[in-house]
Amino acid sequence: MLQQYDKRNNDIQIWVDDKLYPRNEAKVSVFDSTVQGGDAVWEGLRVYDGRIFCFEQHLNRLMASAKAMAFAKIPTKEFITDALMQTLKANNQRDETHVRLTLSRGLKITSGMDPRLNQFGCTLIIVAEWKPPVYPPSIKLVTASQRRNSPMCVDSKIHHNNLINNILAKIEANFAGVDAAIMLDIYGFVSEANGVNIFMIKDGTVYTSYADACLPGITRATVIEICKNNNITIVERNISISEFYNADEVFVTGTMGELTAVSEIDGRTIEQQHNKSILQKINKHFKTKTEKEGTLLTF
Ligand code: PMP
Repeated sequence: MLQQYDKRNNDIQIWVDDKLYPRNEAKVSVFDSTVQGGDAVWEGLRVYDGRIFCFEQHLNRLMASAKAMAFAKIPTKEFITDALMQTLKANNQRDETHVRLTLSRGLKITSGMDPRLNQFGCTLIIVAEWKPPVYPPSIKLVTASQRRNSPMCVDSKIHHNNLINNILAKIEANFAGVDAAIMLDIYGFVSEANGVNIFMIKDGTVYTSYADACLPGITRATVIEICKNNNITIVERNISISEFYNADEVFVTGTMGELTAVSEIDGRTIEQQHNKSILQKINKHFKTKTEKEGTLLTF
């Protein structure tokens, strides 16, 4: 699965710091922390029919990540909301839009790791692109040799821009000719795929990994809530890769691609023997939520 360029994004306006720029003029300094050390946090959001889905949860996670990283002069939620609304308005984007919102530690007075060199406050970057959900109806996965960080290394609860760990896993998927890579935690249990959380269904029960080494995804939380509200048993526990091979259904979740079925892992077909309707059922509830819930656009 390779995303394609969408010509509608030729002329989009992009927010940097405190104003909008045409796509080709939107730039950050070479002294910005995101260039120097991947020292930034981010969110991916989606706009459906005049609403930003789960906006409050995304803002909260962004703020929590920025606080964990001890950023100084973090813009307020009101400032970020206003900047996002202005960006979407400038591009007239009310649907089919994915937003990549990045907050870096900001500009440095000279190159170096020390956050005390960052004396100007955070840099806010908002890239809102025309982008319908990116995955095909089903995808294939391979298990990567690259492990997902445990809190012993870098806590995956910080949604930071240091994505090398996951990019190396994705490279393994590319070489294997599949869509994405499953990343194990340091104990060998399945953590997540390189950019999405992962679930399996067996004998009518939905399982997902503990959010110890994976990002606690907002789509993941939405799926757990859907299961709890609709009498679908959902269990969070350590799950091994062999259990995934033998699952009735496997699916991944994320803002970029929503819920996507997995047809194969490491060459093993996911047989879909029982309860094929459970993923469909969860998906139906998810679609209803995206149609009805979310923060209304102010333009
Ligand atoms: N895992 C990783 C590593 C991710 O980067 C993302 C996307 N932000 C997800 C899972 C899915 O998270 P969400 O449902 O909040 O988009």
